[in-house]
Amino acid sequence: METKNVKAYGTEAADAPLKQMNIERREATAKDIEIEILYCGVCHSDLHTARNDWGGTIYPAVPGHEIVGKITKVGSEVTKLKVGDLAAVGCMVDSCRECDSCKHDLEQYCLNGMVGTYNGPDKHLGGHTFGGYSKKVVVDEHFVLKVPSNLDLAAVAPLLCAGITTWSPLRHWKAGKGSKVAVIGLGGLGHMAIKLAKGLGAEVTLFSRTPDKKKDALELGADEVIISTDNNQMNSVKGKFDLIIDTVPYVHDVNPYVSTLNIDGTLVLVGYLGGLEPILNTVPMILGRKSVAGSVIGGIAETQELLDFCGKHNIVSEIEIIKMQDINQAYERMLKSDVHYRFVIDMASL
Ligand code: NAP
Ligand code: ZN
Repeated sequence: METKNVKAYGTEAADAPLKQMNIERREATAKDIEIEILYCGVCHSDLHTARNDWGGTIYPAVPGHEIVGKITKVGSEVTKLKVGDLAAVGCMVDSCRECDSCKHDLEQYCLNGMVGTYNGPDKHLGGHTFGGYSKKVVVDEHFVLKVPSNLDLAAVAPLLCAGITTWSPLRHWKAGKGSKVAVIGLGGLGHMAIKLAKGLGAEVTLFSRTPDKKKDALELGADEVIISTDNNQMNSVKGKFDLIIDTVPYVHDVNPYVSTLNIDGTLVLVGYLGGLEPILNTVPMILGRKSVAGSVIGGIAETQELLDFCGKHNIVSEIEIIKMQDINQAYERMLKSDVHYRFVIDMASL
């Protein structure tokens, strides 16, 4: 298969900084779209993968799954978009397209395993996929999204992961007018959850460990901020919420938040992957018919729905644009919860 050499930024090992490297991309086949990447958002999952927090990272690793850019080439059978159009790619670049999940627009739950934009099995070239910290990407048109033209392109990038990951549970659990939604953690996912829940008409509360973020949260649309380390504040919202979206990336005690769910309420974990500590107490769940659930990104149709909704309601991410060479410092700031509220890489700097 024909390939081309593309400039990228990635890492050779869990404890090595990211640096410039070259990768091979396939030449566009009949169903492929080639995109010149203009901006790529920086997700906490990029950091988890670069540093092998979840195990299973294959090196060299090139992260990045909040990709926006301009189409430079399309294959002969592509109908969705054309050369010169804006386009976006999120966390998936392929799936089996045949299983029950794929047939129901739930490619993220593909029963044969979806292909992640990075660190996934590359079905075309063998080896593993490389993400958006690079100049170009080649993706099957099914996994390419249309970008609303009225939005700031750099600020659209985070919708492709932070946006859809919070949009999908908001839609699945039917957040809207009259519902009370809470968000745990004000970072990339958290700030999008506030904006989207508000956009859907819900009443929104932020749980944060960081009192300094209160003013920002209110400006982003939160109706209320609860400092999670303050017991009085936590007690004041007992039994309140229909839906809680928990974006905290590391192990943490979920029990205090379960107490703030209403009867039939659901706490959806989208951040931390792994066993819960301290253990989850079932008493409030059983006595209040409450659920603790999980959710991963969203399907392609649902991602397009989100982008269209954001176009209509003028919703984008709050971003800080960085150069590609600043990525290692950006990761350090992310570890200190010092992100306001998503880093986006200007790919012209690579
Ligand atoms: P982020 O920008 O770093 O934000 C995480 C926020 O969580 C922080 O700003 C902080 O908010 C809070 N936090 C951080 N460490 C904490 C700790 N030890 N205990 C309590 N709170 C803590 O990260 P992100 O990009 O939003 O990603 C969040 C998580 O979602 C990551 O684990 C990422 O891998 C995961 N993720 C999952 C999916 C999915 O499909 N399920 C998709 C994308 C990302 P406060 O300062 O307000 O407390
Ligand atoms: Zn992500």
